[in-house]
Amino acid sequence: MKDTKYIFVTGGVTSSLGKGIIAASLGKLLQARGFKVTNQKLDPYINVDPGTLNPYEHGECYVTVDGHEADLDLGHYERFLGVETHKANNVTTGRIYQNVINKERRGDFLGKTVQIIPHITDEIKRNIKQLGSKGDFDFVITEIGGTVGDIESLPYIESVRQLKWELGNKCLIVHLTYVPYLAAAKELKTKPTQHSVKALQEQGVQADILVLRTEHNISADIRKKVALFCNVEQSAVMQSIDVPTIYRVPLNMQDEKLDEVVLTKMGFDLEKTPKADMEKWTAFVEKLENAKEEVHIAIIGKYVQLPDAYKSIIESLLHASAYNNKKLKLELILSDKLSEENVEKKLQKVNGIVVAPGFGQRGMDGKFVALKYARENNIPCLGICMGMQTMSIEFARNVLNYTDANSTEIDPSTTHNIVDIMDEQKDILDLGGSMRLGAYKCKLKKGSKAFDIYKKENISERHRHRYEFNNAYKQDFEKAGMLCSGLNVESDLVEIIELTSHKWYIGVQFHPEYSSTVVNPHPLFISFVKAAIEK
Ligand code: GLN
Repeated sequence: MKDTKYIFVTGGVTSSLGKGIIAASLGKLLQARGFKVTNQKLDPYINVDPGTLNPYEHGECYVTVDGHEADLDLGHYERFLGVETHKANNVTTGRIYQNVINKERRGDFLGKTVQIIPHITDEIKRNIKQLGSKGDFDFVITEIGGTVGDIESLPYIESVRQLKWELGNKCLIVHLTYVPYLAAAKELKTKPTQHSVKALQEQGVQADILVLRTEHNISADIRKKVALFCNVEQSAVMQSIDVPTIYRVPLNMQDEKLDEVVLTKMGFDLEKTPKADMEKWTAFVEKLENAKEEVHIAIIGKYVQLPDAYKSIIESLLHASAYNNKKLKLELILSDKLSEENVEKKLQKVNGIVVAPGFGQRGMDGKFVALKYARENNIPCLGICMGMQTMSIEFARNVLNYTDANSTEIDPSTTHNIVDIMDEQKDILDLGGSMRLGAYKCKLKKGSKAFDIYKKENISERHRHRYEFNNAYKQDFEKAGMLCSGLNVESDLVEIIELTSHKWYIGVQFHPEYSSTVVNPHPLFISFVKAAIEK
């Protein structure tokens, strides 16, 4: 049974400073010293889960193996630590309130007035401590979403104050702030940092470590000044300078001694604690930074204005490109704008095409155009989720000559519903669910490209969709050269299709991008990029 320690990462001054990356980097450094670590995100919005959030506003919806639709920061945690996260790793204000209100309705509070303190804060603390309660982790690192001073984050900061009181030095606060550079004055300014540390103090919380986000190196003098004004030791004031790749951050934070300062403050004897082994990580970052030759990949999707909507796909492509010693040249193409007239111009130079996931009608036609172009011109192409569904519809229309082929999601009146709601899906869903969410087992056909890529028969991948390939068309597809090479183990639902005569044309109903990590890039992406660079 481990004596779990709790670390909180808060943020001040502005949002988007990269708290998730700092939290994941700290997790990585502690893990690389042999500790068991898990990262958690507390989100201050009222949505019960992030599943219904518009990707334009909030970026991608990440899915955990246990089927939770989560904040995209969980993706960073998994990519950095290589450890799976679960529903308990992401909690929103909506869920906290829902739990408390459910308890109130059940009469659990015995007629007491239900209040933010203690009822909401107790529920927040319960959700934090739950991760450590089984004794599986040495460290639970909890990132508090939002910025200190926001109304929304008050109950979270209050919970941190209470926990600090309860747990003493088993609890530590890392506060991330921003140090702007005023070009006219040629100076780095620490006042916003001082104010945000004060805002925390007003809520009863003293930061133990300050990480200063900056575009310029922060001198020892400035660190000394921040230490003095903010009640922290000088060694606990560190910088996180802008870097071309987020994967540099753990190495930079190691140079800043973030892990050492954390361990010392939490009572560890550094002499007796192994140094962080970042060898594999460093090798990856060097490959990523030193690759010269480009691989040009296009992602065809409808949320391309906000690249965060495709966060995990982009990161998976980066991992796989570095693995293949190539520099990723990425192009995000708005599917709504693709047409028979411009497809050649837009895609003739790319080495590979990813057709992205998505819901609903908009942008479908552009996806069909891109798929036809990739199929006919032997360009490596990976279709993910809706990408695989459009792949099957395009094939049915243009190869099998079912001109009205469609998905019932898009056109319920079609006579060739290639993508449909299938009874087999209902059989394997949890009661009440209408979407296939989380990890499902899949069996690969020996001799297929998929089998060759995974090098095993049994795989497990994460899903997030309502519609399925219609099994009634399986024979037609296979006869015409589109092999159904991966089938769901419990139900025979088609999980992978591949065009046997093509260099690399594979559609997957699941989301491989959720499980690609720095140390273990996903085999499908590795193989896709490899095909893309082959002459
Ligand atoms: N719209 C599709 C479905 O619900 C695919 C969803 C997705 O791409 N994640 O089945």
